[in-house]
Amino acid sequence: MNFNLTTADRNSVWGLLQKKLEDYYAHTERLKTSVYPTRKEVHEVLSANFERGRSTQEAIKEVFHGLSKYAVHTPHPSYFGMFNPRPNFPSITADIISAVMNPQLAAWGHAPYAVEVEHLLIQEIGKKFGYKTPQIDGVFATGGQEAHITGMLCALHEKYPDFARTGARGLNKQPVVYCSSASHHATIKAARVCGLGADAVKYIEVNEQQEMRVDKLEHQIKADIRDGLQPFFVFATMGTTGSGAIDPIKKIAVLAKKYNLWLHADAAYGGAVRLTKEYSKLLDGIERSDSITFDAHKWLSVPMATSLFLTKHPYVLGRAFSISANFMPQEEDEIDRLGSYTHSIQWSRRFIGLKLYMPLLVFGWEGYEQTIMHQIKMGQYPKEQLTIHGWKLYNKTELPIACFTDEQHEYDLNFSKYIYDSVLEEGSAWIINYPYEEFATLRACITNYDTNEGHLDALIEVLNRKREQYIKKIAPK
Ligand SMILES: *Cc1c(COP(=O)(O)O)cnc(C)c1O
Repeated sequence: MNFNLTTADRNSVWGLLQKKLEDYYAHTERLKTSVYPTRKEVHEVLSANFERGRSTQEAIKEVFHGLSKYAVHTPHPSYFGMFNPRPNFPSITADIISAVMNPQLAAWGHAPYAVEVEHLLIQEIGKKFGYKTPQIDGVFATGGQEAHITGMLCALHEKYPDFARTGARGLNKQPVVYCSSASHHATIKAARVCGLGADAVKYIEVNEQQEMRVDKLEHQIKADIRDGLQPFFVFATMGTTGSGAIDPIKKIAVLAKKYNLWLHADAAYGGAVRLTKEYSKLLDGIERSDSITFDAHKWLSVPMATSLFLTKHPYVLGRAFSISANFMPQEEDEIDRLGSYTHSIQWSRRFIGLKLYMPLLVFGWEGYEQTIMHQIKMGQYPKEQLTIHGWKLYNKTELPIACFTDEQHEYDLNFSKYIYDSVLEEGSAWIINYPYEEFATLRACITNYDTNEGHLDALIEVLNRKREQYIKKIAPK
C-alpha cells in the first residue's frame, strides 16, 4: 500500500481538488443554504464498506457530494445564522499548508517558526485589547470553549495555590462563577469541565438591552459571601451571541477588584471591533480584564478551530499546565514557556495560528478593518429595511445582529417558528428564532464578508412573503 500515492496520482488528485474546491468557493451561492435530510438519506451517501480501498478521486467525489448536499452552507452569503463565517482565501491556504507540513507545536524546538508566529500574534492581538508588553501571554485554542476553560483553570491556579495538586477536592470553600443570563452556555461547560459543576455558575439578571446588571451582580456576590461561598470568577460578555449586547465591563472590573474576582472578557464574537478605529471604543475597559476569549473563527473569517486565549498574567498558563515530562526535549526556561505542552490544555498541537497569520500577511490590519466596517454597514441595512417593512427591532446594537419580529405577533411562538421553518425549508437564506426576553423574535446576523444589499433584499422579500402566508393561512382569526 503506497500511502504517498504516486506522483502522477497526486497531480491528478490536486487537479481534481482544485477544481472542486474552487467550484464550491466561487459558486457557494448556487447551493441552497441548507437541506434537512433524514438520517437514512444521509446514510445512503456514506460508504460503510472499508474492507477494500478505492481511488482517492472516488473518495473525494463522495465527500464533496455528501458535504455539498447535506450541510448548512455557512460560507453562503445568505447564511445569517450563528457567527460562522465564510473563511477568507489566505486562511484556507494556511489549513492546507499545516496539513501537509504538519508542524508539531508542543515544544519550541520542534517548530520554532510556528511557535514564534503564534507568540507574535498573541502579543499583537493582546496589544489591540490594551494589554501591555511584556505582561501579555496567551495561547491559541480550538474554540471559545477551550479558551474559556483555559481562563477558568488559570484563575483556579492563581486563586488556589494548591489547585494543581489537589484539584477541586482541595477547596475548603465552594467557588462561585458569575455571568449574565444572556451569556453563552460555554460558561456552564467550562465550570463542569473544571470540576466545579454547573451549580457553581450563577446567572446575573440583565437589563432590557441584555447587558449584565451590575447592581444585581454585587448583590449576589454579597449574598454568596454571607453563605460561606467563595466568589472567584466573573465573565463579562463583549457581544452576546443572541443580540450583541456588551456588558458594562468597567463597572464589572471595579467589583472584580473589590471582591478579588478573576475577570474574564468573553469577546469571542465582539472582539473583532477592536480592529476598527470607529468601534474599538465599544470594548473600552476590556484592558482591565485578567483574560480574554477571542474567536478568530467567527468575525475574523478563518476556518473553524481558531480561537485565542489572552491574559496579562504571564506566568499563570505555566502554573496551570506545565508538567515536567522527561521524554520531552529540555529547553531553556524562556522558550520552554512557549511550547504548548507547558502552557495549553493541548499537548500535540496543530499550527492553529497560521490561519490568522496568513490573512494578516495578505490583508494586514487595514484589510481587516475595512472588512469589519463593511459588515457593520451591511448590518445597518436590514435593520432599516425591516423597519420600513413593518417589522420591529428589539435589540439596540451597533454590531450587525438584528432581533426582530412583527409586533402583532411578538408573543406568538407559532409565528416565529413558522417563519423560521419555512425560510429554512425554502433554502434561500438561513436565520434562527431567538427568544429576546419575553418576545418570540427572529435573529439575523451578518457573518459573511461577501453579503451585499442584494442578499439582504432577498431576505426581506422572503420574510415578508412568509409573514403574509402565515397571516392568510395559519394565524388564528
Ligand atoms: C461562540 C461563542 C462562544 C463559544 O465559542 P466556540 O468557539 O463556539 O467554542 C462563547 N461565547 C460567545 C459570546 C460566543 O459567541
